[in-house]
Amino acid sequence: MSEYFESVLISRSTPEHVAVKLGGECSCKHCTNGCKFGSGIFKKDEEKKLAKHLSISEEELYNDYLEETELFNTKLFKPKVIKKDKPYGKCIFFDEGTELCKVYPVRPLLCKVATGHEHGEHMYAWFLLNHLVNTEDPESIRQYSTYLKFNKTIYGGRLHELIKDKDKLKKILSYEILRKETKSKEQAKLVPRRHK
Ligand code: SF4
Repeated sequence: MSEYFESVLISRSTPEHVAVKLGGECSCKHCTNGCKFGSGIFKKDEEKKLAKHLSISEEELYNDYLEETELFNTKLFKPKVIKKDKPYGKCIFFDEGTELCKVYPVRPLLCKVATGHEHGEHMYAWFLLNHLVNTEDPESIRQYSTYLKFNKTIYGGRLHELIKDKDKLKKILSYEILRKETKSKEQAKLVPRRHK
């Protein structure tokens, strides 16, 4: 598929503060509807703020409240989902009495940008592109390439926009480049040393 959403509002390079503004300061029941069926995802290290907010240690936070999720070969954390014999369930921070989020000020970035509003799908694509799809990791690009066969993206999110070197992209997709490039010991020796 690999087509764009018909949206000029959001692109891969939209700054986070603009994305959060577009996500809106919504706390209505419509927006928390998704919280009954799963949870959002924290950007890298964002979850640490939650420990302070809950006055608990990071160890308790990771053990009792969070779970790891992996998408496009990238691992991040999300609030635990309480599944009762079903493949889905409510977010651990969803208050069923008030139908609101119990950690609203420190909720995950994905919850801030992609709750059930009109730009939700576009903002989800923005989150994927900025926090999960890793252009330095060939496996991440390959998994994203499969995703694009069934999903639209936003401006800046097509494969040739992520990897501008056509030859490199071809090699990644054909598995000629398997993993992240790391400098070999021989290459490292060739790097000239600075004079003191
Ligand atoms: S953290 Fe809050 S906003 Fe995010 S899924 Fe859980 S209850 Fe909903």
